[in-house]
Amino acid sequence: MDEARRGFMKVALTAAAAVTQSANAHGQSSGHGQALPSDTALRVKSLESLLVEKGLVDRKAVDALIDTYEQKIGPRNGARVVARAWVDPAYKQRLLTNADAALGELGFGGLQGEHMVAVENNANVHNLVVCTLCSCYPWPVLGLPPVWYKSAPYRSRSVIDPRGMLRELGLDLPADVGVRVWDSTAELRYLVIPERPTGTEAFSEEQLAALVTRDSMIGVAKVSATSTGDRS
Ligand code: FE
Repeated sequence: MDEARRGFMKVALTAAAAVTQSANAHGQSSGHGQALPSDTALRVKSLESLLVEKGLVDRKAVDALIDTYEQKIGPRNGARVVARAWVDPAYKQRLLTNADAALGELGFGGLQGEHMVAVENNANVHNLVVCTLCSCYPWPVLGLPPVWYKSAPYRSRSVIDPRGMLRELGLDLPADVGVRVWDSTAELRYLVIPERPTGTEAFSEEQLAALVTRDSMIGVAKVSATSTGDRS
């Protein structure tokens, strides 16, 4: 992680810590220097206990759902989509015109990704995805959102100063490249198709997929031919 990125993350984490401290300052400290769980955490725990007690949810089913999105479904799905779009122009066209159907061709879709739009980066345009309201994110292709994606600094600065924020994240875009910011909602979520890096002409689809990072599909990074992704 370079210095600029580290700096941004520090701001995001500091903001998160401030929120926690603020919550604790509002009567949630035990008075012995030991913080109790936050009000939200207690509410969630109470709700979970009640739902389990009444037989409305199965704790194992909830654990399985979380495990699925944390471990099995993740950015590798999106990487496969991007790699396919890079090697198959007809697929890319379908992805750009009807993302839900094109993602369905590869078996991706469903919860938290029912309605998707794919946006393509090129030499003139760079796309950036945010959810200014909360943390809407395309789970079926990117998995669970990273902490910074949900942070207040990312959500506000993506709109106020996207170019400056990207620079701090290590992506310094030329002045003649336009930046388009897409605000996700519960109804509509976005997947960025990053530019295929030069020097990858001989790469297989699988090798290309290994280069595609989560960050590049959110739009806060580019894909490099020397990416240290999990190349197979
Ligand atoms: Fe949201």
